[in-house]
Amino acid sequence: MTDFTPDTSSLRAETLVEALPYIRRFAGKTIVVKYGGNALAGTSDHDALALFAEDIVMMRLVGMRPVVVHGGGPQISEMMTRLGKTTEFVDGLRVTDAETVGIARMVLKGQVNPQLVAAINVHGNYAVGMSGVDAGLIRATARNERLGFVGDVTEINPAVVERLLDDEFIPVIATIGSDDTGQAFNINADTVAGAIAEAVGAEKLIYLTDIEGLRSDVGDAASLIRQTTADHLDELIADGTIAGGMIPKVASCQQAVRSGVQRAHILDGRIAHVLLLELFTDDGIGTMVVPS
Ligand code: ADP
Ligand code: MG
Repeated sequence: MTDFTPDTSSLRAETLVEALPYIRRFAGKTIVVKYGGNALAGTSDHDALALFAEDIVMMRLVGMRPVVVHGGGPQISEMMTRLGKTTEFVDGLRVTDAETVGIARMVLKGQVNPQLVAAINVHGNYAVGMSGVDAGLIRATARNERLGFVGDVTEINPAVVERLLDDEFIPVIATIGSDDTGQAFNINADTVAGAIAEAVGAEKLIYLTDIEGLRSDVGDAASLIRQTTADHLDELIADGTIAGGMIPKVASCQQAVRSGVQRAHILDGRIAHVLLLELFTDDGIGTMVVPS
């Protein structure tokens, strides 16, 4: 049994009251959350997913309009290995031939997406899964010929997302897009999350990843940057501080806050209830990007 000594109960009451101004501030606001494939593939897979789902449902129940965008790189790699398919890389980027984009679509839309949808819907009938192909949400074009079906976003048509939000559903989006001919493309989920946040006029864009936030020295856990601006991030990209999978997150945070999104966050998806900690407490957590 939980021990309700006067001390612990007043602390609980305090925590709830602390949430009040944030609940009021974010009521009716759209918040785009990108859940990283690496955070998803964490050691206690199922628990992490269940905790994430609780946070998303809580956001929805206090009146926010959450949108979930997810990746699945590690899950795609695992399936490729299982199918005995080797991956070719050009300049560090995965060459995506017709078979590979088929595998990516199968894993994202057939495996990762319904896992997230099901975890949320344990709590009620909220989540609707889709990919960027649905209702032309994500239009894409090939990044370059050698990479095959790796797509860049050409257009976001957010109507389906907005209608679902207006009807109080939670859209959960797998980042496969299509071009005018119906050809499918695998698109970086970080980039898509930013583009959707911009298109729906989101208040916040949140990245959940497998590190505590942006570091000013990748090798030093004590170098967490708590708050930064889009302009300062230009410098950190130019000097190589930001590398690898962090680049599309940071670029999307910059683009988002420069086009009307109030705040962008990079948070550690491995921390239990990290979304609630960021949204509902005075302290905040991880890295926050502000326009200037
Ligand atoms: P996700 O699945 O969330 O997209 P990624 O592996 O693509 O995860 O991106 C997160 C990774 O970016 C971190 O685990 C870290 O290794 C790397 N990274 C590169 N530069 C930085 C930096 N300056 N601060 C923090 N992480 C960084
Ligand atoms: Mg990544």
